[in-house]
Amino acid sequence: MEQVTLLLTASTDVTMDEDRRLLSPGAVAVRGNEIVAVGPEAEITQAYQADETIRCDESLIIPGLINTHVHMPMSLLRGLADDLRLDVWLYGYILPVEKRFVNPEFCYLGTLLAAAEQIRSGVTCFADMYYFEEDVAWAAVQAGMRAICGETLMKFPSPDADSYDDSLAYCREFLEHFRDHELIVAAPAPHSVYMTTPELLAEVVRMAGEFDVPVVTHVSETKLEVTEWLKAYNMPPVVWMEEQGILEAKVIAAHCVHVDEREIGILAKRGVGVAHNPTSNLKLASGIAPVAQMLAAGVNVGIGTDGCASNNNLDMFEEIHLSALLPKVQMKNPVAVPASEAMTMATIMGAKALHMDHLIGSIEPGKRADLTVVEMNNAHMVPRFDTTGQNVYSQLVYAARSNDVAHVIINGKVVLRDRQLLTIDEDAVLEEARQLGQRINRFFVQRETNLLDKLIAIGGLKQQETFEIQVKGHVPSVETVEEGLKSPDIRIVRQTVRDQYDTYFIFDEASLGRIRYREDAVTTEGDTESPIYSLTLTEPAKEAEYEDCVVLTRARYTAPANRSLRFYREYFQASSEKEVVKHRRRWRIRYKGMNFAINVDKVTRPEQESFFAEIKSRTWSKEDALRKASLLSELLKIIGASTDDLILHEYVDLV
Ligand SMILES: [Zn+2]
Repeated sequence: MEQVTLLLTASTDVTMDEDRRLLSPGAVAVRGNEIVAVGPEAEITQAYQADETIRCDESLIIPGLINTHVHMPMSLLRGLADDLRLDVWLYGYILPVEKRFVNPEFCYLGTLLAAAEQIRSGVTCFADMYYFEEDVAWAAVQAGMRAICGETLMKFPSPDADSYDDSLAYCREFLEHFRDHELIVAAPAPHSVYMTTPELLAEVVRMAGEFDVPVVTHVSETKLEVTEWLKAYNMPPVVWMEEQGILEAKVIAAHCVHVDEREIGILAKRGVGVAHNPTSNLKLASGIAPVAQMLAAGVNVGIGTDGCASNNNLDMFEEIHLSALLPKVQMKNPVAVPASEAMTMATIMGAKALHMDHLIGSIEPGKRADLTVVEMNNAHMVPRFDTTGQNVYSQLVYAARSNDVAHVIINGKVVLRDRQLLTIDEDAVLEEARQLGQRINRFFVQRETNLLDKLIAIGGLKQQETFEIQVKGHVPSVETVEEGLKSPDIRIVRQTVRDQYDTYFIFDEASLGRIRYREDAVTTEGDTESPIYSLTLTEPAKEAEYEDCVVLTRARYTAPANRSLRFYREYFQASSEKEVVKHRRRWRIRYKGMNFAINVDKVTRPEQESFFAEIKSRTWSKEDALRKASLLSELLKIIGASTDDLILHEYVDLV
């Protein structure tokens, strides 16, 4: 009898080999990290004697499942912010938290957490893309998982690199450290064509060729991405990638939701592996990938979970299930992607998509011993038929769940035995993840109670604090003001006409202050300039009040607004909104050696009968404010404003 290290017996071996052999009862013999024999149980047990035997009654042995697209450390952001549009989700939540919290320890812990979940879900190999990928790789090694670890490369600064030169240097070093590693393939992962540059992509292709590793990237996930590419290059992304020579590399393309027939032909011809992420595409409303068409064209389509921030779990069985169901609805055809084909995608075709089918994806002698044992004892797995030769695939794809996974072997090593994780201290990892979750939670709760923090979190804020002294009253007409401005004491410096569209975000908690989003369309000497958008935080309290209703306001934070009003609305989630539109004539003047601005406003929405005049001046100290306060009273009289019904409030409070 031949000695082996491990022997498994089960009701059925689902080999996923070329002939799709099913062996009932079957057995697998493993020596070291390699499968040495697969066959009927009686044959194998007669020929081999093992150091360790695992008898798996009422169970199926399947090739370890292959998760072709994931961002492992994002398991720590599970449920942080859901049901949001992509920009609010990304710029409002994911990027701020990544900027603040993502470091090597975060990536290591997050990977262990995700690995625990993956192994429990029968996954033995994953293709990742994130930051500090070296730490992701070391955590995968600790967990005993096989992985392609893709170091993210972008044209923007990222948590692990200030520039793309830095990220390329980090990536090269990482690839060197893991060259020929038993479990890990280190790979460059340019985020996508739109987050990189042609030069960066060319360098990535060179590097991947030099190290003979694949290139991990996102392709045509959203319709918008494709529309913009068509606008910029007059061709869709996959055609552009082909022209740029990027597909010369062994590419693993996540998503491919919006690819046309010609692009599908290119993907097939170039042997690009596609990672289909059904839950993520549904949750972010990206669309449904043309899986049936890609399969028909001969594209290798594997299945992925994507990261926890867009899923929110890493349950491979859920994804396999959806991979079989979605094409049926999409094609209005119940025979599109049958169960056996979905199982193929999760195993041998997933291996082909990762360019690793020479090592994994099926139970065959000579391949690595990556095996998953699925029990059939739970109610949802009973009874069992063998009528069509397809029943076992139906059971795996339509009925099985992650908690049916009893044992997992990776590279010949048992990592899950009787549902116990052997390589990860699960309790400790969960506890650490809970604690980190609380820290992240505090960060966001704090941010919600402070509008300034929330403004700063989305970046681009040039913080500017100003003190302004001002007075506001009624004037009979613009002409009276113009008449008054002819006074010899006044010198007009500049004169503009503008239309201001203000939206105020108002919060029930008044002490938060309020935020004004302004579109300011200025006309100078007859020319209308393109509008300026700004965001201003106003604190509720007035700093001081002087005679004649002159007030001093303080602590205004103003920043250019570089996103849409809709973005800010969804991000700040105000209790209510008010809109004020006004036509403003503004004079910047010098009076008694000081600068003032005089505004004459006609509020058009909500429509106000009278004209308002505002006189303002920047100030720096209480003494300066006091001196200017008396000048404001003088100016009021000069421009013909009535001083009986002066107004203390802002327009938004009047309407
Ligand atoms: Zn992704």
